[in-house]
Amino acid sequence: MGEANMADETYDLKRMQRKLKKYLDADRYQHTMGVMYTAAALAMNYNCDIKKAQVAGLLHDCAKNIPNKKKLKMCQKYKIPVTDLERDNPFLLHAKLGAFLAETKYDVTDLEILDAITWHTTGTSNMSMLEKIIYIADYIEPNRYKAPNLREVRRLAFQDLNECMYRILKDTLGYLGKNPKTTDPATEEAYLFYGNIHNSK
Ligand code: FE
Ligand code: FE
Repeated sequence: MGEANMADETYDLKRMQRKLKKYLDADRYQHTMGVMYTAAALAMNYNCDIKKAQVAGLLHDCAKNIPNKKKLKMCQKYKIPVTDLERDNPFLLHAKLGAFLAETKYDVTDLEILDAITWHTTGTSNMSMLEKIIYIADYIEPNRYKAPNLREVRRLAFQDLNECMYRILKDTLGYLGKNPKTTDPATEEAYLFYGNIHNSK
């Protein structure tokens, strides 16, 4: 109960937005605002910390517009481990690197927020409520239009987070063609985990 107030005082959203705007292109900033508001709405719906959802939503893509070469260089410099799959698909690194920048450049110390940023691209097994909210908000925010079944996924988001995770992962893996060479193991694990919950209903 008391945790919301802690986050309320700690984070200055306006200040973060002003800074973030310098590092994102216009479309990415628009998407980011969509994720922030959608995450806040989901947090309201599920009685999760609204301020944490806003901060995580706001910063989830803060490393997105860093050129891929620079992403790899930064990971090397700051000793952030890079898998073979990430080396071949450096865009994946914006999640880990985003969490790193949130901590070091935006002074976010809350591990729940940092983890939500870390896992927003791949998902993983056994996610926290905040992690699921950010993963889902990223997928359904109002500026999105390309994903399949968006109407249904958006409806599910406000009804059942686990079922919504399963649906998104299923559609995402369908889209990636279940190719183990291009699918992050964390996404596979997430799909199995939320598939089990789906099947045990
Ligand atoms: Fe992202
Ligand atoms: Fe995003």
